[in-house]
Amino acid sequence: MSIQQGRLQESPLQEAPARISGKLRAAALPGTQRTTGKLLATQGYVVGIEISGSGARQSVALADLNGTILQQVRRPLEYVLDTKTVLQLLDGMLAEVMAPDHLQDGRVLRVGVAVGGLVDAAHGVVRTLHHAHGWDNFPLQDYLAERLDIPCIIDNNANAAALAEVQYGAGMGERVVLYVALGRGIGGGMIINGRVYHGTTCTAGEIGHLLVKENGPKCSCGGFGHLEAIASAQAISRTMIGLSVEYPETEAAIHRITGARAERITAEQVFRLAAEGDRVAQRIVDDVHTYLGIALANIVHLINPGMIILGGPVAQAGDLLIVPLQARIRDLCLPAAGEDLRVVQGRLGTEANIVGAVTLALQDI
Ligand SMILES: [Zn+2]
Repeated sequence: MSIQQGRLQESPLQEAPARISGKLRAAALPGTQRTTGKLLATQGYVVGIEISGSGARQSVALADLNGTILQQVRRPLEYVLDTKTVLQLLDGMLAEVMAPDHLQDGRVLRVGVAVGGLVDAAHGVVRTLHHAHGWDNFPLQDYLAERLDIPCIIDNNANAAALAEVQYGAGMGERVVLYVALGRGIGGGMIINGRVYHGTTCTAGEIGHLLVKENGPKCSCGGFGHLEAIASAQAISRTMIGLSVEYPETEAAIHRITGARAERITAEQVFRLAAEGDRVAQRIVDDVHTYLGIALANIVHLINPGMIILGGPVAQAGDLLIVPLQARIRDLCLPAAGEDLRVVQGRLGTEANIVGAVTLALQDI
């Protein structure tokens, strides 16, 4: 059953009053805050969608207006083939979570999408999805809004996760927060007074491409010496495997910790091997602390956050990452900028992106 059929036959959407987006509503009533819409919405649901560039995480969630996730489905892909495959997959997942018996309390008011790529949030367009084809300048927001007949909002996944951590996780009550997503790539989201700071062309927070090491390793974007090429999960694992070839002891340690599947070594395991005394792992971890420290100290001087939240797989290393990193940042910062700064691990873990997608939708009502 397609979503279209399901909606037309059974969903209460048909009786819903004429929809008007928060933006239009605010524009129509001069002086009215966008939050006015929230007061009007006392029942119903929102849907969150997570699309990752690597394909590893594709999920859809149905949440109530308090942000509690009621239904969730996940369909990981080996890799993202093209738009058609992903959109078909989404169709199936949306039909599942939006089944009529899940919508007893009303209709779905908004759909929020967290996309693991460059997103023009102002126009609802996916600029590019690294490692995937057919997504360049894809108008995902309009596509979904038309297909579902529900207003939709899209943003980059690090921005969405940042919002989620400030709303429900480690950053509650913080006014200026930098969220750093240390995954396959490195993303960042800045939340200022409860809102994502997007910049002029929606690329604010793309901290993976900060130049931290002249003539450093090649980045996914084609540049050299970018933070992502040194401190992302992929860079850490790849460097560890590459260097271990010359060090039999390290090779044996990798063999042991991965159960003989060296190619699967995670960044967290590299941190553990470093803590156990492996010299190669220590070198890699030291580079991560150094260059991540430089990047974050520079950002601290620019935006003066009260908190830096670390998310994504590399952050699973916990204190092994955070304690030395916080010390490096303090060393590099003016006391007035670094003294009260807290560097913490995200509380939402691997759910940050999907909770972020739900939060985007809720914030837009
Ligand atoms: Zn780059």
